[in-house]
Amino acid sequence: MLFDVQPKTSIDELFGRRAEYLSFLDAIEKRRNFFIITGPRRIGKTSFLYASLNELEKEYGIPYAVIDARAATSLNSKYPQRVIAERLYKAIIRKGFVGGVISKIKGLKIGGIEIETQDKNPDIIDVLSAINEGNELAIIAFDEAQYLRFSNEDLTKLFAWVLDSLHNIVLVFTGSQVGVLDNFLRLDEGNAPLFGRYEVRIPLPRFNPSESLEFLKRGFEEYGIETNERDLLPVVKVLDGVPGWLVHYGAHRVDGLPHDEAIEKVLEKAMTYVQTEFQELDKLSPRYRVVMRAIAKLSEGKGYARWERIKSLAEEELGDEIDEKSMRNYLSKLVDYGFLETIGYGKYRIPDPVMYRVFRR
Ligand code: ADP
Repeated sequence: MLFDVQPKTSIDELFGRRAEYLSFLDAIEKRRNFFIITGPRRIGKTSFLYASLNELEKEYGIPYAVIDARAATSLNSKYPQRVIAERLYKAIIRKGFVGGVISKIKGLKIGGIEIETQDKNPDIIDVLSAINEGNELAIIAFDEAQYLRFSNEDLTKLFAWVLDSLHNIVLVFTGSQVGVLDNFLRLDEGNAPLFGRYEVRIPLPRFNPSESLEFLKRGFEEYGIETNERDLLPVVKVLDGVPGWLVHYGAHRVDGLPHDEAIEKVLEKAMTYVQTEFQELDKLSPRYRVVMRAIAKLSEGKGYARWERIKSLAEEELGDEIDEKSMRNYLSKLVDYGFLETIGYGKYRIPDPVMYRVFRR
């Protein structure tokens, strides 16, 4: 059901994203081993990831394991590799990822992880090597991979080793905070471990207005609800092609709320989202919110705001001056986190329409 609020897990449940899936498949067939799937939050990265991986497993027999990097770092923020090793190990056991090579892991002694199976303490290197040995091809994906940057050890070294030495393993990373993810992977930094690796990027764009309309129509049809396309236009405008918000709107309507209340609920939800997502930036400075509010206000009508005007409006709200360097820093961090986009020199916009409304209030 399209209005199911959980991430979709099969290609049949996924609306659109056909071209993106085919590019993924095509690159897998060409034996590319390093993928980065990007897009703003709620755009459907997790859904695309699971749906594609399940399809690849079903159709081509390629096993996979997905590590939720956010969960891995919250379980063990300093050593997420322990959680990763454990998750991969469990995936091996569950899916029969590898056959005979499991015994190789059993005999190994490594510190740190508690798992329920009788096989204690798998080490990430051993687990990865076993997966590599036991499969012609296997995919390991890290959802919201930017969270791995909190690890005590530089995991990019591990990833570089996998890409260089374990030729049967494909690594996939997803991230909504694209700049933060890029800063973590440091693909363009000459002396960084992953420098020079060939990555395939699959950006997931917002639905265009016609796709959003079709998405809503089909979603309602699944519940036997007839809709008038023109009644759906305001929703398409306000929620502007972010599937996650369209789903929430649809789910509220199906549960009986009228249009205005459903939109209001989506905004409330978005507010909670913003609060959690903004926490990291709040810790750095309360000014990030001030800057976002200034941009939201200035964007009205034209959809973007200019550097100088943002600065002066933010200063007005703060009753204090912001020096140029700090201002540049605030804006580039907000871009890194995916809260802002640059559209030409000195012009910024808030790409998520719901977030725009949250800051516009
Ligand atoms: P992300 O990982 O980018 O935050 P999710 O995959 O969690 O996004 O998707 C957010 C919501 O939108 C979920 O309810 C999911 O079911 C829905 N969704 C996202 N993309 C699609 C799609 N292509 N087709 C159907 N539903 C989608």
